[in-house]
Amino acid sequence: MSRRRLPPLPTIRELIRLYQLSAKKQLSQNFLLDMNLTRKIVRAAGNVGGGFVCEVGPGPGGITRAVLNTSAHHVAVIEKDARFMPSLQLLSEAAEGRLSVYRGDILNFNLETIIPQALSREWESSPPNVHIIGNLPFSVSTPLLIGWLAAMSSRTGAWGFGRTKLTLTFQKEVAERMVAKINTPQRCRLSLMCQYLCEVDLKFVIPGRAFVPPPNVDVGVVHVVPRVQPLINLPFSLVEKVARHIYHYRQKYCRRGVETLFPPDRLDLVEDMFEESEVDPTSRSYMLTVKEIGRLCQSYNSICQHEPDIYTYDFRSKENAAALRRKGQILQEKFEKQIL
Ligand code: SAM
Repeated sequence: MSRRRLPPLPTIRELIRLYQLSAKKQLSQNFLLDMNLTRKIVRAAGNVGGGFVCEVGPGPGGITRAVLNTSAHHVAVIEKDARFMPSLQLLSEAAEGRLSVYRGDILNFNLETIIPQALSREWESSPPNVHIIGNLPFSVSTPLLIGWLAAMSSRTGAWGFGRTKLTLTFQKEVAERMVAKINTPQRCRLSLMCQYLCEVDLKFVIPGRAFVPPPNVDVGVVHVVPRVQPLINLPFSLVEKVARHIYHYRQKYCRRGVETLFPPDRLDLVEDMFEESEVDPTSRSYMLTVKEIGRLCQSYNSICQHEPDIYTYDFRSKENAAALRRKGQILQEKFEKQIL
């Protein structure tokens, strides 16, 4: 498939001046005007030839141009800020029917309505020729990623078409957490949630100074490919809950986090959970492998199947927090009596 070339156009910098598209700081708008970098982001997405590329948050269209200069069959962009519509329309005219422009908020935009059904693939086969790319504000990219991981797990939205790949920018520290291995300082709940469902690859880092205006952080470009078989085969919400509790107490034994999954009078279940999963309760959360957390999730799930009230137990609710404090006091008193 041959590369397509856009006709000569004003540069992005000229368009910004022409349409007075100054970046809005309160919307965390930082533009990429260096076409070497926009091309590099598009290359990180893999082979988009003949495919459907969906770009989120195109802004003045730097990455959009780079995609349109490949042999991608069609490009769709979703942009929230109305100020960018005229310059995106200009690009759309130059692209002669290869670019569709949507004005909307990606946090509640149904991607499945714009992806061509014909590109749909079985989950087990290779990923469909559908690519989601974006350089979004950091405040949007992380909640969006969590929502998309949930959609991958239920194979809905863009993941109703198969294992659709993502290439997105994140604050460098967040990107490092997404790919962090066990026993590293960055290992956290986000590492687990990404890695049990996907292969995640930090492709490269863009220094903050490459953006206009420059943010005071560097940016990581991450490529995400959903796994055929998630490493934990349980509902997303259950895995998320167990992980949230375990990683909450990073410097303590992982047992401490597991305890908070249960009412204080049912700590016998904590013993059951560790016994059944064969996980060392004195490991710290960042030492646990995905498989070990998977076994803890499996045994939590079987406990909840027998006792459904356990799943809805929330140790942060007012009454439960008070009960925990009482239990803590009793234990403290017992302990003091033993010492005296
Ligand atoms: N992609 C462009 C680039 O690399 O130069 C612009 C990047 S700027 C960091 C983020 C863009 O995402 C802005 O154009 C902003 O208006 C847009 N945006 C922010 N929140 C959005 C949302 N919820 N849905 C769609 N677009 C959004």
